[in-house]
Amino acid sequence: MKSFTHKNIRVEFESTGGIESCYILPDFKVAFDTGKCPDALIDIPVVFLSHGHLDHASGISYYFSQRSLRKLNPGTIYVPKSVQKPLSKITRLWQDIEEFDYKCDVAGIEVGDKIEIKKDLHVMSVRANHRVSAFGYVILKTTKKLKKQYLHLSGRQIARLKEHEDIFEIVEIPIFAYSGDSTIEIIRENELMRNAAVLFMECTYIDEKRNVERARKWGHTHLDEIISEANLFKNEKVVLVHLSRRYSPRYMQSVLNRRLTEEQKKRFVYVD
Ligand SMILES: [Zn+2]
Ligand SMILES: [Zn+2]
Repeated sequence: MKSFTHKNIRVEFESTGGIESCYILPDFKVAFDTGKCPDALIDIPVVFLSHGHLDHASGISYYFSQRSLRKLNPGTIYVPKSVQKPLSKITRLWQDIEEFDYKCDVAGIEVGDKIEIKKDLHVMSVRANHRVSAFGYVILKTTKKLKKQYLHLSGRQIARLKEHEDIFEIVEIPIFAYSGDSTIEIIRENELMRNAAVLFMECTYIDEKRNVERARKWGHTHLDEIISEANLFKNEKVVLVHLSRRYSPRYMQSVLNRRLTEEQKKRFVYVD
């Protein structure tokens, strides 16, 4: 598997467009997309599915079956509501084929739903723009922040005020986002995607042989669009993923090297 770490965000992942997508955040015990269900996914109790294309979702039955075999609780896979029924049916059919019952929890969610994964962490679904109904996801961390009007105060003043006034507010900070498969609209339309500390951004096509028009037709994003709208991205790191199999990692690195400014190279990265 590939591996990426930025500050306290560690992601282990499989990612080739049309082949396999699975992003695991082991420290948060959460994953996005099952891919073909790599072994490391089986330990993860909560998975969010971006959409039903096979490269993102084919591991769904294997995931539940393996968790049952290993005597783990069934785990939950959250999916866009529109595919909840057919995906549940698939897991049911596979149990019939195996003549063995195990529990499968396929939960349907809507755009904007927020699911708690830890006391101070929620995953929120965001509308993506793809060939089929699809979501992106953002991990939001809840923290307490000093209200704006008190920012200029000294530590001692704050300590004193705290006794009899509510000087803090609760804010949600986007610490991680995943675009799933989508045209660049998911970035244009979602501030949370643009502001997440780490963004895993699909970038399926990277040169003129498969141009922007073609990327858009298939519900994907082209590197040209990411570069021309680079100022939109306020993320500390943008990891470009879901590269088409037609490009070698070496070719991708050479294209990025040629096309990104030195400043952009620090933020927009591709992991071999
Ligand atoms: Zn895909
Ligand atoms: Zn897709």
